[in-house]
Amino acid sequence: MNTIPSEPVAVIGAGPAGIATALAMHAVGIPVKLYERYARPRAAGNIVNLWPPAVQALEQIGVDVDDIGAFCETEFRNARDKVRARVLFPPSVVDKYGNGGFIGLTRPDLYERMVDALPDDILVGNKEVVGIEDEGRRVVVRFKDGSSITTPLVVGADGINSFVRESVWGLPPIREHNLHVIGGFTFDLPAGVNPREAILRHSRTIQASHTGIRSKGRDGSEWWVLQAWDGQRPAPADLKAHALSLAREFPREMAQLVANTPEEHIFRWPIRDRGDVPKVWSKGRVTFAGDAVHATSPYAAYGAGMSIVDGYFLGQTLNGVDLGDAPALRKALARYEKLRVEHTAGQVKLAYMLGRNFHHVPAPMRPLRDAIFDHTKFLQKMVGDSNPAEISAQLEIMGPDLRTPAPVTAQRAGRGI
Ligand SMILES: Cc1cc2nc3c(=O)[nH]c(=O)nc-3n(C[C@H](O)[C@H](O)[C@H](O)COP(=O)(O)OP(=O)(O)OC[C@H]3O[C@@H](n4cnc5c(N)ncnc54)[C@H](O)[C@@H]3O)c2cc1C
Repeated sequence: MNTIPSEPVAVIGAGPAGIATALAMHAVGIPVKLYERYARPRAAGNIVNLWPPAVQALEQIGVDVDDIGAFCETEFRNARDKVRARVLFPPSVVDKYGNGGFIGLTRPDLYERMVDALPDDILVGNKEVVGIEDEGRRVVVRFKDGSSITTPLVVGADGINSFVRESVWGLPPIREHNLHVIGGFTFDLPAGVNPREAILRHSRTIQASHTGIRSKGRDGSEWWVLQAWDGQRPAPADLKAHALSLAREFPREMAQLVANTPEEHIFRWPIRDRGDVPKVWSKGRVTFAGDAVHATSPYAAYGAGMSIVDGYFLGQTLNGVDLGDAPALRKALARYEKLRVEHTAGQVKLAYMLGRNFHHVPAPMRPLRDAIFDHTKFLQKMVGDSNPAEISAQLEIMGPDLRTPAPVTAQRAGRGI
């Protein structure tokens, strides 16, 4: 008999993936501890958008989603405001969210809501993991402060530079996208900005976008500008001035949004991932969630969302499983991967490809690319129809709730197989 029923699952890293995993485990009655290297979870950055599966997952794992963000109707346009694509959701999503299934909010608000839902005794701060040893019947987790614990299951939710993944599988190299994004948010809305719209505009070389946000009952707007930028090149010295110079190529409200944003609400990120998503995530008594296995360009606007949904599925697939029973655990983790690998891999690929198409096409080809985007249904089909349909299908695959998985037939249909 190799059952170790009383020790909690150890989730490493309190970002969106880790917090969601801990909440989902707790919701189905699995003892869990969430270990974070910092004293408290820290919101990485300032702005975020969530697709419907993430909102549904948050609701199911006990997060208060009431008025959590601005539900936005979303369009892709060129720099002169010609609409190239409208993001369309299937009727079931429209019934629930209107057509604005894509929501905008601030990252600190998302973290606050998720952390508020965590029972006090789950999160353990100041616990940087520095050692993982899978002994077969249990895993030993060692911390920088010299302490250690044992657990029947480790979930590595420790982000793009995952120590856990490095220890278990080795880490593939960083893939530089050679892009950077500067973004911010303001509640000082200029004329022409509708806080229930997301407008994603592209010129020949730059993306300049804004979406509505809601924060503590207030309407506001988040914005970002994105351009090709060598991954090793230092950041511009003055982020606001740089963002303003890029925004001027676009309709007036874009530069006004930047101008209205306090410097402390402006951040910059170089864009990178770890290449293709691995086909197998789990090894022995260790599995993964979030950026640790599917770091994604913000072109997907879905990295945090996918991380949250990973947590939901870990709760659902491990519900009722005797974690001490190695074959039963293996079977449950295989099921989790079946539900997650294909979808997340497709999203990581699509996000990378969009970044290349919009920012790394050789100059002589750009007029042709833009003629295709302006005058054909190509972009509509890709980002307006098929990708929102693929993401919305996750809602079916998630089933009615954490304790009620979707029938296998619905899961297959949702994945189009
Ligand atoms: C510019 C930008 C815009 C984005 N926009 C969106 C968006 O609109 N929508 C969206 O869904 N996603 C977006 N993303 C992606 C999203 O931010 C990430 O996918 C998400 O944060 C991943 O969550 P995670 O929990 O896996 O990892 P992280 O958020 O990186 O969290 C990992 C946690 O693990 C902790 N940790 C690390 N190592 C250790 C250790 N050894 N021991 C203990 N703890 C450790 C860290 O401190 C951290 O708290 C964007 C990303 C960027 C860069």
